[in-house]
Amino acid sequence: MKQYSKPVVSVDNGLAEGVYAASGAGCYTATANIHQTPQIGRGDYRIQVNGQHHSDHTKEAQTLTISFNQPVTYSSSQGTLAGATTGTTLTINYTYHQNPNDNIGLGDLVVVSDPGLSITGVSITD
Ligand SMILES: [Zn+2]
Repeated sequence: MKQYSKPVVSVDNGLAEGVYAASGAGCYTATANIHQTPQIGRGDYRIQVNGQHHSDHTKEAQTLTISFNQPVTYSSSQGTLAGATTGTTLTINYTYHQNPNDNIGLGDLVVVSDPGLSITGVSITD
């Protein structure tokens, strides 16, 4: 994660290899974990995204922004793609009901990419 220097990035020693955790501005702490990689060549990566909400409001909408070290093509998610289908950053809208303090799982995000994919940034805003 050395190649990515913003925003406030913390990859704690206690976290498993490949888990990207960011505590940025705002009320969400987001983590993303590539839990399935293609066996051979270009293919599907399945990514679990989780958010911890800490604030005093409830909302029904969230936006996930996730960045990668190389271009990906969006395949599927539990949300609605809001930006470009291909690139190094994807923006996806979700409509979860969130409580002031809540843990939400955004389910699997599936992207297609070449071998060597890693997550360089993740954030959730509401
Ligand atoms: Zn919030």
